[in-house]
Amino acid sequence: MNIGQEVLEALKEEITEVEFNRYIKHLSYDVKKSVNGLAVFYAPNALVVNWISKKYSEKISHLFEIKSNSKVTVKITLKNRIEKRQTKKIAEAKQGSSLLNQSHSFNNFMVGGSNQFAYAAVKSVSENAGKVYNPLFIYGGVGLGKTHLMQAAGNVFQNSGLTVIYTTVEQFLNDFTRSIRNNTMERFREKYRKCDVLLIDDIQFLSNKEGIQEEFFHTFEALKGDGKQIIFTADKHPKKIGGLEARLQSRFEWGLVADIQPPELETKIAIIEKKCEINKVVLTKDIVNYIATVIDSNVREIEGILSKLHAYSQLMHVDIDLEFTKNVLKDQMNENRENLTMDKITQVVAKDLNIKPSEIRSKGRSKNIVYARRISIYICRELTQNTMPQLAQYFGMKDHTAISHTIKKINTLIKEDEDFRVKIEELTNKITSAS
Ligand code: ADP
Ligand code: MG
Repeated sequence: MNIGQEVLEALKEEITEVEFNRYIKHLSYDVKKSVNGLAVFYAPNALVVNWISKKYSEKISHLFEIKSNSKVTVKITLKNRIEKRQTKKIAEAKQGSSLLNQSHSFNNFMVGGSNQFAYAAVKSVSENAGKVYNPLFIYGGVGLGKTHLMQAAGNVFQNSGLTVIYTTVEQFLNDFTRSIRNNTMERFREKYRKCDVLLIDDIQFLSNKEGIQEEFFHTFEALKGDGKQIIFTADKHPKKIGGLEARLQSRFEWGLVADIQPPELETKIAIIEKKCEINKVVLTKDIVNYIATVIDSNVREIEGILSKLHAYSQLMHVDIDLEFTKNVLKDQMNENRENLTMDKITQVVAKDLNIKPSEIRSKGRSKNIVYARRISIYICRELTQNTMPQLAQYFGMKDHTAISHTIKKINTLIKEDEDFRVKIEELTNKITSAS
């Protein structure tokens, strides 16, 4: 048994069996990486990483100290970060496949002020292929429902027997180069110029790709000439795309250009409720409201959060309550903010409070330094994966008990001092929106 396993065995004696089986059992110790006062453990998912770091890393490092007679910093981390990234990439690449996602329907699309113009335009096109707005150009930020709307129309067309091609610029380009290589251009042109409806997602990627713009232009002309419906999406207005041939750019605006704006709170709530219904996740009203307020405009995040909530609650046999939701959301945000460092947090806090980052990390006791330090420590604790000992080291404090003492103090202040709480919220927002 290695020292890491010994420590976990010792921990078993200190906590309940349920806790042990739920979290600690899943930890594995990395003998190779654990050198020079560092103990590395792997956990299976980010939530476990978060909880263990928060709840047990102090205990674990204490047990290490007893066993090895020297100070040890405990690092709990995800085993397969790299693998995870790759899976994500593959999933992203798959999105470019020409299959329409059946669940992208008009019924499942929640309409509010932010998207009603685009919705009405796509809906109307779906009822009158090639007859009303051709081409239809939908633009807006990431995760606001462009692909969903486009495919909703695609599904309607397909169900009425039309031949629909849904593609991305990348796929169109790959298909094109493959056809050149294999001498199958004729087939390529037959496919793209003879379909009834052409849906091209994220057309902004045409920018600065001259060869394919030429081919694409002729595809467009052929389809438009035959009265076939074309729909585009992009992350910005055609005028702003840049690196496009003038003749293409002007054609993008021939039909109708409609934008989608970030959803208002009520729309976000409606979307969450809809997604819960579809995914059979039951959430109370206050949890739905909480999620809607905390996430920003990117609706895509909602799905991630719901599936995480669902998966973890099953995995860990706990009900989804507000506390649990907060943890999962925090975890999700940490994942989004892997790059957020203590340096960055301290910099933002220092700038806002008009002092130097080095002062925050100094032993200075003046009122404004202590104030800035408390805020920085609190935000670092909330937004990064650093453990108490790491925080202590960073902020020049004696050890993790000093940090833990400070955090207790801050929590009291947050409850008692409205201005302090507001300042923390304000700075947290600033930091997270900049990352
Ligand atoms: P975009 O293509 O604009 O980046 P997507 O269409 O991929 O965004 O949308 C991201 C996710 O959010 C999808 O799962 C989609 O179903 C969902 N979504 C976005 N807007 C809405 C909405 N108004 N109603 C329901 N779901 C939505
Ligand atoms: Mg999209």
